[in-house]
Amino acid sequence: MALHAAERAGARVEVAGVSVPVDHYIDGRRVASDARFEVRSPIDWEAWKLADVARGGRAEVDAAVQAARRAFPEWATLGAEGRHGPLSRLADAIAAAVAELAQVETVDNGSLYEAMHERVLPRGANNIRFFADFARDRLESAPRTLAGGERNRVRYDPAGVVAVSTPWNAPFMLATWRVGPALAAGNTVILKPPEWAPLTCSMLGDLAEQAGLPPGVLNIVHGTGSEAGAPLTGHPGVDRVAFTGSPMTARTVYGDAAANLTPVSFELGGKSPFVVFEDADLDAAAATAAYQYDNSGQVCLAGTRLLVQRSILEPFLARFRELVDEIRVGDPREPETTYGPLIHPVALERVTGHVAQALVDGARLEFGGRSLGGLYYAPTLFSEVPPDAEILHREVFGPVLTLQTFADEDEAIKLANSTEYGLAATIYTGSEARAERVSAAVVAGTVWVNCFYVRDLETPFGGARQSGIGREGGHHSFDFYCDVKTVCERTSLFSG
Ligand code: NAD
Repeated sequence: MALHAAERAGARVEVAGVSVPVDHYIDGRRVASDARFEVRSPIDWEAWKLADVARGGRAEVDAAVQAARRAFPEWATLGAEGRHGPLSRLADAIAAAVAELAQVETVDNGSLYEAMHERVLPRGANNIRFFADFARDRLESAPRTLAGGERNRVRYDPAGVVAVSTPWNAPFMLATWRVGPALAAGNTVILKPPEWAPLTCSMLGDLAEQAGLPPGVLNIVHGTGSEAGAPLTGHPGVDRVAFTGSPMTARTVYGDAAANLTPVSFELGGKSPFVVFEDADLDAAAATAAYQYDNSGQVCLAGTRLLVQRSILEPFLARFRELVDEIRVGDPREPETTYGPLIHPVALERVTGHVAQALVDGARLEFGGRSLGGLYYAPTLFSEVPPDAEILHREVFGPVLTLQTFADEDEAIKLANSTEYGLAATIYTGSEARAERVSAAVVAGTVWVNCFYVRDLETPFGGARQSGIGREGGHHSFDFYCDVKTVCERTSLFSG
C-alpha cells in the first residue's frame, strides 16, 4: 500500500457532531493510504456508516517505526522531569475533551455514553497523568551500600520503540493504559487502534499535537490486525510489544515477536469466577452479579461464572432475577439504558454460536438466549451446566453468564480454578478469614472481595495462565517499558 502525506489536518469526518481524523498520524503529520476500511456504528449497524479510515500496512508501519526511532533519543534524554510537562498537558487535553470523546466512543463501539463520560474516559486522562507523576516522583528506589562500600542502585532507562495494539471494548482507555507508562518511561510509541472501533484512538493524535508532543513520539497506524498489526508487532525496529486482546491473537503476536526476541506484555481474555458464600451480603452480591452484564458482557474482567453456595441459591437467584428484569437493553446514548449492542455482526454470530452450543451440551437456559434485533442481545443465564460444556470454558464476550452451585469452600475453589484462564475473581463473603484463604487459593491476577472493578493504579494488573503475560501498574509498568539496569559503583574512586 502506498502512503501519501495528507493535508496537514488529513481527512476528517464528522461523527456525533465531532470532527474526527481518519488518517494515520506518523511523525506528527496525518498520512493517508490508498485503501480505506469502513467503520459502522453498532447502534444501527445496517443504516449507520461512520467513516472510511486509512487502511495501513507494512509501508505505514515502517514509516512509523522510523519516525519513532528518530524521535526516541531526544524524548529519552528529556528525563521523567522533562517529559512531565508535555504528558501533563496531554492529560489535561484528554480531560478537556472527555465529552467529545464520549460522544464518539458511544457511537463507535456501543458503550454507554454515561459510563464513558463519567468513568471510563476520565480514566484515560488519569492513566497519562498517573504514570507521568509516578516516573518523576516514585520510580527510583533508595541506593543500597554493599559490604565493600560500593553503591548499588537501579536505573529505569527507556527500552526504545513500543508497539501498542489494543481492542475495541474500551479503545481509548485501554490505549492510554499502555501508551501512558510507555511514554512516561521515555519510549516512543506506535499505536495500532482496533479496526472495529478506531475513532477515539485516532483523536489521540490530535490531543498529542495539542499538548505539544514532539513529532514521532506518538504515532498511530490504522488498519486490520493482519495487515497493520502483524507487521508492527513483528517489526525488528520495535523494542517492546504491548498487546491487549484475545489469547488466540496473542499466540500469533507472540510468535512474530519471538522472531526478534522482543519482550511482550499480554493482557488477554478471561472466564472469571464470581463466588457467593452463604455468609455474604446477598443484596450486594446480587447487585454486583447483575452488573456483570455491563457493556453487553464485553468486559475482559467480567465474572461470567456465578458460583453460589447451595444453601443460599434460592434467595440469591430470586434477587438476581429481579435485578436482571430491570436491565434495559437499547441505545447506549439514552440515560435509562443499562447496556447497548454487541460491537459487530461477527460478535453477534459468536455469541449466538456459544449459546447454541451450550444448549447442545445440555445446559439449562434460565433466561435470555436470544437476539433482540440488530446487534442487541438479551441478558442470558445458563444453569445445570455439564462440567465439560464449552460455555464453562470459553470466553463468550457477550451478555451470557453461567450458574453453578457448591457445597463448601473447597468445592468453590476447585470450580473457580477449573478453566485455563486466570484474569480475575470476585468473592462475596462476610468472613475476612475466608476471604484471605480463598484469595490465596484462586488463580487470578486480581481478586475482588465484596467489591468489583476498583483498583489503585499503583498495584499490578494482569492475568495468570491464558489470561496474560506480565503485570502492569505502578512500577510493574516501568519494569516492562524500561531496560531496568543495576549500577554498582565504587564511589570512593570518583574524583569529580
Ligand atoms: P483480538 O485479539 O481479536 O484483537 C485485539 C487487537 O489486536 C485488534 O486491534 C486487532 O486489530 C489486533 N490484532 C489482530 N491481529 C494482530 C496481530 N497479528 N498483531 C498485532 N495486533 C493484532 O481481540 P478482540 O476480539 O478485539 O478483543 C476482545 C478480547 O480482548 C477478549 O478476549 C477480551 O477479554 C480481551 N481484553 C483483555 C483485556 C485485559 O486487560 N486483559 C482488556 C480488554 C479486552
